[in-house]
Amino acid sequence: MSKETASGAKSDEKMEFDLKPGENEQYKPVKAEITCVRCGKKSELTLRACVNVSLHPEEKEKILDGSFFQYTCPDCKETMSVTYPLLYDDMGKALMIYLLPDQTEEALKALNAQQKTWSADMLKAAKVCTMRAVRNLHELSEKIKIADAGLDDRFVELSKAFVFAQFIKQTPGFEAVLVLFEQQNGKNGLTIFGKDGRRLWAEFPEGLYEEVVSMFSDRLPKKESTEYELIDAGWSMKVLADLPQPAGAENG
Ligand SMILES: [Zn+2]
Repeated sequence: MSKETASGAKSDEKMEFDLKPGENEQYKPVKAEITCVRCGKKSELTLRACVNVSLHPEEKEKILDGSFFQYTCPDCKETMSVTYPLLYDDMGKALMIYLLPDQTEEALKALNAQQKTWSADMLKAAKVCTMRAVRNLHELSEKIKIADAGLDDRFVELSKAFVFAQFIKQTPGFEAVLVLFEQQNGKNGLTIFGKDGRRLWAEFPEGLYEEVVSMFSDRLPKKESTEYELIDAGWSMKVLADLPQPAGAENG
């Protein structure tokens, strides 16, 4: 018996698929050599190619606080952050995020080209999943937080563009180096990091996100593509530049 739940547009529909990766999708760990930045000691390191937070929810916290990527030198005990291509897989949220820290655009092309070798199950999963590529740990955490907030990252990126433009107008002289979606006290907003070390918060105006959704949902239909995509500030600038007329322009 299927039962429709009447509440809310953002109900968490459970994705029903059985993901059994084929041989090419086994995400085997790889060995790498690391040189300590402090003492120069070389050691071998096992890098995991995939983290499945549905099976290992405790690892999600480690990803979010960065400890997942911390490496401690066995000799001098120096701790350093080691980032490398990693698939963050949250089947419960139908979310797959590929961290591609080096030459992201090229790596993304190569990654999407590999789809030819994917199994039918994997392609089926890719069709229903939100498939994203990110450049760094900040972007990875941000995508996770957006999904946790129950929001669509495309509309969040567009909302960010509006909120950030407003913020800059109201905060002249502030040089932002990083702008990340974050909830504070249950409110959606942006944490904005300044060049001067300041960290400011800009809340999404009431109803903004919903307005962005209604403004853009026709233009940005749910994709049929199974490719990983970079949905970032550059992406939202392109979407905004492609608008045929000023958004929200009303005559009479
Ligand atoms: Zn060392």
